[in-house]
Amino acid sequence: MKTWVEINKQNLLYNLEQFRKRIDKNVFLTAVVKANAYGHGLEQVAQIVNEKADWFAVDSVDEALILKKQGIDKPILILGYTVFDRLHEVVENNFHQVVANLETIQKLDQLTKEKGSEVNVHLKIETGTSRQGIFEKDLDKFIEYFLNNKLLKLAGASTHYANIEDTTDHTFAQSQLEKYNKAIEKIKKAGFTDFVKHTACSAAGVLFPKTHFDLVRIGISMYGMWSSKETQASAKQKGIEFNLKPALTWKTKIAHIKELPAGATVSYGCTEKLSAKTKVAVLPVGYWDGFDRGLSSVGNVLVHGTRCKVLGRVCMNMVVIDVNHLADVKLEDEVVLLGKQGSEEISAEEIAQKCNTINYEVVTRINSGIARIIV
Ligand SMILES: *Cc1c(COP(=O)(O)O)cnc(C)c1O
Repeated sequence: MKTWVEINKQNLLYNLEQFRKRIDKNVFLTAVVKANAYGHGLEQVAQIVNEKADWFAVDSVDEALILKKQGIDKPILILGYTVFDRLHEVVENNFHQVVANLETIQKLDQLTKEKGSEVNVHLKIETGTSRQGIFEKDLDKFIEYFLNNKLLKLAGASTHYANIEDTTDHTFAQSQLEKYNKAIEKIKKAGFTDFVKHTACSAAGVLFPKTHFDLVRIGISMYGMWSSKETQASAKQKGIEFNLKPALTWKTKIAHIKELPAGATVSYGCTEKLSAKTKVAVLPVGYWDGFDRGLSSVGNVLVHGTRCKVLGRVCMNMVVIDVNHLADVKLEDEVVLLGKQGSEEISAEEIAQKCNTINYEVVTRINSGIARIIV
């Protein structure tokens, strides 16, 4: 293989265990595996965590079907939108679906009656993220459908925080929690008691036990990364002992080595000009693979446990690195693009900072066609 991703099973399970210790016994631990399990490989991650997680959460009905086909028998919650003509698959496969549109409820109402089978709906409450979500004032219209059709099950009610990882000031999250609680009171008053309340992502789950309710939705931290520097700082400030171990290592092999003369320019646009004779190596990965073009001339990779600088522009399927300091480097030597090699490490956070984005984007952008291998 030219490039592959290794997933460390022990680390993944260790991170999940950290969360298990943080939540009450009766709280469901949901493994969020959308976006190809944050780039870690949907099937691989599901296989590893199946025994330890209580629920799974995905973005789409397609991802839910992959889990089902794989034999996952835990409840599967679809967080994202399902188009009308796929809703029958939600019903047929007994998936849990997050809903924020009355039109979707109407379709599900029809479908359950036609098929004579139940569907599990989780209402998404608008509390300030201004993305999917139902305002409390509009809840009655939704509730009516559940009251009138026993097959339409109000299985859950959820919300999602807008400003919990970007700051150490959590007053906005607090205001969202208050709005959520008001909406829950309204649902309860309408006679519903047996539904799953959930609001917490990783940051909320780590920092605020009162956001846990009945279920927590854990993504980034299961993979061993902090939601943000701010979340990590807040945890430290609160004296929360929480240790995470990144589970992903992205590797490739050296595909070509040569010595370039002083004055040579490297890669497209001739943006990098060598001031001295330099030994360089070509790696068979580029931005198509998910090695961000923003790493042009600034990225580092690891060879023989040492840092090597990216020279010039990252191409579609190749990148050139400086290996001048490595005396015995040879073709097909292993290269770490993301992760540890020896005592050196390239973190998703380092790459994110260089590319002006977040660790979430760095790992989810690793092309899903690249093999994910459990180690
Ligand atoms: C992705 C997602 C999560 C997980 O968030 P992390 O910060 O990765 O833990 C939780 N809830 C919803 C609604 C999401 O979309």
